[in-house]
Amino acid sequence: MTALLRASDLWKSFGERPVLRGVSVQLNAHEVVAVIGSSGSGKSTLLRCLNLLETIDDGQILLGDEDISDPRVDANRVRARFGAVFQQYNLFPHLSVIDNVTLAARVVHRMPRPDAEAKAMALLERVGLADKAREHPDRLSGGQQQRAAIARAVITDPELLLLDEITSALDPELVGDVLALVRELADEGATILMATHEMAFARDVAHRVLFLDQGRVVEQGPPAQVFGAAREARTREFLSRFTA
Ligand code: ADP
Ligand code: MG
Repeated sequence: MTALLRASDLWKSFGERPVLRGVSVQLNAHEVVAVIGSSGSGKSTLLRCLNLLETIDDGQILLGDEDISDPRVDANRVRARFGAVFQQYNLFPHLSVIDNVTLAARVVHRMPRPDAEAKAMALLERVGLADKAREHPDRLSGGQQQRAAIARAVITDPELLLLDEITSALDPELVGDVLALVRELADEGATILMATHEMAFARDVAHRVLFLDQGRVVEQGPPAQVFGAAREARTREFLSRFTA
């Protein structure tokens, strides 16, 4: 099987500070990989480097058979192959929900507005937000905003979804609906790389868990192994903070 994404030996510093120190990660099609690790370990930087929001200092990123780390590639075109959702501030406040969901489809993928709106309405229906389509984001709860952001990320049928702690800014009672939606996408065969602190969710949904510590992949494996029988002391120490 050829991997959909193959990132090899990624290095990234901000000023003098090394943040990614030789990170490699592979994703096969339909695979769900959870990146766990302390705050500051480099999870967001890794995801941002993968979809070219940050430039790497060294290493290589292959998406399919394209070297997207080649400085000559058009970053906007590559970014259009990913769907990305971040912790917060995902929606444009001045646009209605449906305009948010359809924007990339219309502008980047040149989908005609009626087609984009029909597809957006079907997605909003599915995420339980059909009645909010004409509202502005500030009229939605945080959980509703994240579900709209997920609809926006998947409307273009991306090859890979990057989810960066998408429930961390939510009130606890709003987390469940968002995670349920991610689980559905995973069940349908989406390829997902997600940074998360939701350990129970990672254990249930991810096919593989990758523990990042100070910019290095300390350990990775199936959730049962990483959560149940971690090989590395650092991993066990990190996980012990969640099960206390
Ligand atoms: P995580 O998502 O695991 O919490 P991040 O990737 O956000 O970690 O951050 C890793 C380190 O990189 C942190 O020390 C953070 O302060 C630093 N960092 C992240 N982005 C920038 C930036 N744009 N400029 C300078 N330092 C940054
Ligand atoms: Mg982060």
